[in-house]
Amino acid sequence: MVAEAIDGKAFAAGLRGRIAEAVPAFQAATGRVPGLAVVLVGDDPASAVYVGSKGKATIAAGMASFEHRLPATATQDEVEALLATLNADETVDGILLQLPLPGHLDEQRAVATISPDKDVDGLTPVSAGRLALGIAGMVPCTPYGCLLLLQDRLGDLSGKDAVVIGRSILVGKPMAALLLGANATVTMAHSRTKDLPDLVRRADIVVAAVGRPEMVKGDWIKPGAIVIDVGINRLPPAAGETKGRLVGDVDYGDAAAVAGAITPVPGGVGPMTIACLLRNTLVAAHRRAGLADPEGF
Ligand code: NDP
Repeated sequence: MVAEAIDGKAFAAGLRGRIAEAVPAFQAATGRVPGLAVVLVGDDPASAVYVGSKGKATIAAGMASFEHRLPATATQDEVEALLATLNADETVDGILLQLPLPGHLDEQRAVATISPDKDVDGLTPVSAGRLALGIAGMVPCTPYGCLLLLQDRLGDLSGKDAVVIGRSILVGKPMAALLLGANATVTMAHSRTKDLPDLVRRADIVVAAVGRPEMVKGDWIKPGAIVIDVGINRLPPAAGETKGRLVGDVDYGDAAAVAGAITPVPGGVGPMTIACLLRNTLVAAHRRAGLADPEGF
């Protein structure tokens, strides 16, 4: 069997298109467009690239983009004061604090100052609590994107055996909560899990969010399983290359020979993250304006 490659890029483009189509109705109802504020502290080049792409995607969807940069020397109080200003700003529906913060800052404390209603990254303790309790709230973008890809492929996930490898706050834990919410039977694996290959072999759905290049091998995969590879790892450059290849946490060629469908890296989960950030901003804007959630998201 050769697995179907799940085209996250195309799916994300479709989602972004539908979001852009939903903006005029929001504007007609409220007299303004949804707004997303992104806060970057310091000058990490990778973070600056992410912030730039988020801003461009926001504008392309017809929403307002507000970019705030603080120097790497910013104090905790300065970061929290900016977040408090954005919490109070009526034109801002979503606030994203680009992580990681410079080492002298307390990330968790800073994130916790974001208003849960504007927490489009879904990382505040209130958002995590709402997700665990099954109450409507903001869900982290990457795992939400994975859920959309899985539901697009499989429809109802009820009763499916799912293994999530990784238990980070950003991906693994919310992914498991979302799958559980969709009535899958979920096992969470991590670095202390015993017999990981055997565990993965039982799964109809495998989500790998580990950060270890090509760790999951083809003989770990149940024939026909759906494999979602969240990992983004850059290999050291091979001879003649200036930059190493990007690979996921799954050995793609090996796993694609066994799986039913698999997300490639790049072009699988990655593009879903920004699309889901826009989705969360649109949803947050509707909720803040007292409107029903937009349909189909
Ligand atoms: P973290 O480093 O925060 O978490 C990694 C998890 O993997 C931990 O729970 C860890 O277990 C577990 N783990 C580590 N080694 C093993 C092992 N040998 N066997 C089983 N489990 C193991 O990473 P993130 O969740 O933030 O990210 C994971 C990957 O996803 C990275 O490659 C990252 O770049 C990528 N990513 C991609 C995004 C996208 O948009 N596509 C967005 C976010 C992340 P333990 O808890 O026991 O230490």
